[in-house]
Amino acid sequence: MHIVGWRKFLRKAVKSKEEAVMLEELKKQVYEANMELPRRGLVTYTWGNVSGIDREAGLFVIKPSGVDYELLTPDDMVVIDMEGNRVEGKYNPSSDTATHLELYKAFPELGGVVHTHSPWATSWAQAGRDIPCYGTTHADYMYGPIPCARNLTPEEINGEYEKNTGLVIIETFKNRNINPVYVPAVLCTNHGPFTWGKNAAEAVHNAVVLEEVAKMATLTELNNPKVQPAPDCIKEKHFMRKHGPNAYYGQPGK
Ligand SMILES: [Zn+2]
Repeated sequence: MHIVGWRKFLRKAVKSKEEAVMLEELKKQVYEANMELPRRGLVTYTWGNVSGIDREAGLFVIKPSGVDYELLTPDDMVVIDMEGNRVEGKYNPSSDTATHLELYKAFPELGGVVHTHSPWATSWAQAGRDIPCYGTTHADYMYGPIPCARNLTPEEINGEYEKNTGLVIIETFKNRNINPVYVPAVLCTNHGPFTWGKNAAEAVHNAVVLEEVAKMATLTELNNPKVQPAPDCIKEKHFMRKHGPNAYYGQPGK
């Protein structure tokens, strides 16, 4: 082999080895994130799924469809490319894979996506309502109300249903000018929540927070049916001290 060709070959071999190691690491992370859902009481049976993406490789890893959590292993995770093709894994991917794919394509900041039917958040989704910001627990994580995306039309449901679910979420954030980094959660009418984060673990963390916030909002309205959303200054103070350019909450570098 010519020396230049040989160098190119070597570089490619090293890169693909690094990529393979990274992919194995991502499978472990996504597996762990999936296992956190039943641990936190967010899923029943096999409902729910988590994915995580390697942007450089252009691949994401997602839970297989309908496999019991007790039987899951990191090797069972399914690898998908950005055209939605399965490139690795013996199982079919989660039935919601096309929704995850659309979210990754539209929102480049996303590193992980979660879908559950956790009951408090799902009850708001089924009611077709945004979750108003009633206090600091909400404001610590979400900058403003958690939006509820519109119903899918019969054509959208009978067509590419899971892809259209993703497109309706994206439409909601665009139309309402919501930054998905500032509001890492959405409710889908008649369905349930999706959350996301910079990786799969953070997306699960946000799913847990969303469930707590949904529960608190329900009980808040029960305690006072005339309650008003918290003032904007609460939203500004609590979100920005944690996530804004001059954040000071927590420990430096964490
Ligand atoms: Zn679902």
